Amino acid sequence: MNVFNDEIVKRILEKTRTIWAVTHALSLLSWDSETYMPPKGVEERSVAVGELTVLRQKLLLDDELVKLVEKSVDKKDLNDYEKGVVRVLNRHIRIAKALPPELVKELSKTSQEARVVWREAKKKDDFNKFKPYLNKIVELTKEKAEYLGYDDHPYDALLDLYEEGLLTREVDRMFGAIEPGIRKVFNRVMEDGDYPSTHPLEGEKYDEEKMKQLNIDVLNIFGYPFDKARLDISAHPFTNNMGIEDVRITTRYEGFDFKRSLLGTIHEFGHALYELQIDPALKFTPLAGGVSLGIHESQSRFWENIIGRSRVFVESFYEKIISRLDYVKKYSPEEVFKYFNTVKPSFIRVEADELTYNLHIILRFKLEKLLVSGEIKAEDTPELWNQEMEKLLGIRPRKYSEGVLQDIHWSLAAIGYFPTYSIGTLLSAQILHHISRDIPAFNENVSRLEFDDIKRYLYEKIHRWGSTYDPKTLLKMSFGEEMNPEYFLKYIKEKYIVS
Ligand code: MG
Repeated sequence: MNVFNDEIVKRILEKTRTIWAVTHALSLLSWDSETYMPPKGVEERSVAVGELTVLRQKLLLDDELVKLVEKSVDKKDLNDYEKGVVRVLNRHIRIAKALPPELVKELSKTSQEARVVWREAKKKDDFNKFKPYLNKIVELTKEKAEYLGYDDHPYDALLDLYEEGLLTREVDRMFGAIEPGIRKVFNRVMEDGDYPSTHPLEGEKYDEEKMKQLNIDVLNIFGYPFDKARLDISAHPFTNNMGIEDVRITTRYEGFDFKRSLLGTIHEFGHALYELQIDPALKFTPLAGGVSLGIHESQSRFWENIIGRSRVFVESFYEKIISRLDYVKKYSPEEVFKYFNTVKPSFIRVEADELTYNLHIILRFKLEKLLVSGEIKAEDTPELWNQEMEKLLGIRPRKYSEGVLQDIHWSLAAIGYFPTYSIGTLLSAQILHHISRDIPAFNENVSRLEFDDIKRYLYEKIHRWGSTYDPKTLLKMSFGEEMNPEYFLKYIKEKYIVS
């Protein structure tokens, strides 16, 4: 079915087809860089990526395209898809026009250097090495926020790059609501000991080939279409979409602690399914992609946490697990469930459990906000980090690499990105609330390992639309309400407080 009828929008889509093709090529290059590119290919690859990125920018700022989009912004007689095309392009053009090329270049150059220095600083546990780069990145990022513009807080301009329309004060309100609630549940779990902090399976080794089979099993059970999708290996799991019929995920095999590989695969499956279930009518258009990082992460967290770490799923999937990894037989399904859900205060965000994960994000959000508003400088971050860590999780990093130096994001100048991880987690619990109400047999379906109804629901409510609606409009339309952090608090109380 053709959903684009307006003549101007049709002309816009003709013009953006080349942009789509360049993006398609860039995605493939990016996927290849992380998977199969030989190490020495890196220099030529980064030149190619740089040139293609500049080309894409030129195509986006093409005079005729810009005029057509500007002319259509206030057009009243467009359908929702047509409006979506105009909204997405107008936003990209606005951002591209707002930022002076010198600033973009300077940021890109600084972050390329900073990434190398950060790696070195982390390895040597030497914050002073990284400090001048962090200061420079923050200064350039503040400039960037000024050019982009904002009403309330400079951080608004940065958040919007990753989560269209999300405001700092909204994040403040949501994080303010969950922080005490999570800490309360966390303290209860620590006192009651119903969920262990470690599990012997964390140390048990697996055979990589068997682990791979188990990952393929879980993807087959979820209905991952291997004719449109792949599973490969990379150091950090990710999802990359070339289009809606070519989506690729990766996982990792560390050789022990099998839940890390399995839940990583399930997480990326959630991202992939979003892209795979976008309405084919949106193919080749600017709408053929997930709308924001937060909505995307809600999909990956939904499959990883809400389904993958649930008791019903673990109990039902247990037979498959032991058929591939027979050493797991020593443990009952209940013990495997507990292994999937160990809870402990930890320094490292990427290793954090479902319960404490958001506290790691809250900490970064607080620091980023202070950096961007100029209330603190890079030199203040290590101590502030440690103080917050102690306040939130009761532990104090002994090394910079356990604290302020642990994540790559600041070296990439990706300030404003972290909150989307928590937004996704909070939304996944909100989706659980709605799906359980709309599909009363939700738990039965999971226990029978039948996911068609669940996938259809996610298709109807979120996936099919791609980027047609901005995140807030999509939520309002699909669930009749705004983002609400109370669902997450309810979810963790029900799961973790065993009374
Ligand atoms: Mg993710």
